[in-house]
Amino acid sequence: MKKILLSACLAGFPVRYNGSAKTLVSKQLARWRRQNRLVIFCPELAAGFRTPRPAAEIQPSLHGHAVITQGARVIEATGEDVTERYILAAWLTLEMAQQHNCQFAILTEGSPSCGSNMIYSGGFNGSKIAGMGVTAELLTHNGIEVFSEHNIAQLCTRLAREKSDDIPCTSR
Ligand code: SF4
Repeated sequence: MKKILLSACLAGFPVRYNGSAKTLVSKQLARWRRQNRLVIFCPELAAGFRTPRPAAEIQPSLHGHAVITQGARVIEATGEDVTERYILAAWLTLEMAQQHNCQFAILTEGSPSCGSNMIYSGGFNGSKIAGMGVTAELLTHNGIEVFSEHNIAQLCTRLAREKSDDIPCTSR
């Protein structure tokens, strides 16, 4: 059975930049947890960040791919450049996913690490743009399918096509 990497803040751990969790309440998630299918991980903590920590956004208004390949930077609200640690966070997450045979990931939407559809624009003004965070980008580039907490149903649909998944998903 293929495993699923899960953002630690979605699993209920208070590891976000502001010291909060973003606990995802889902019958399906609870079921995957009982099946020992979840690999819970926080990229930023793995890379040495502490909680709480300043908010960070990708600048200029680009996304994770540009950080990895085009010199875009990840900047904290204090002005500190933390790009290298965000890239390290992504590689550590990929290593963890590969070690545990995770083919899928559920990552927190909006994060400069974990966002898979939307991230903050880089202006620290609350606006968002379409795009992936650094970790979501690296996982996707390496064949791991990334879903957000809003896309559990899509992951269920995807798993239904997996012959190894003998227990069908429930609704959320
Ligand atoms: S890096 Fe990902 S798992 Fe860690 S707190 Fe941020 S969104 Fe959650």
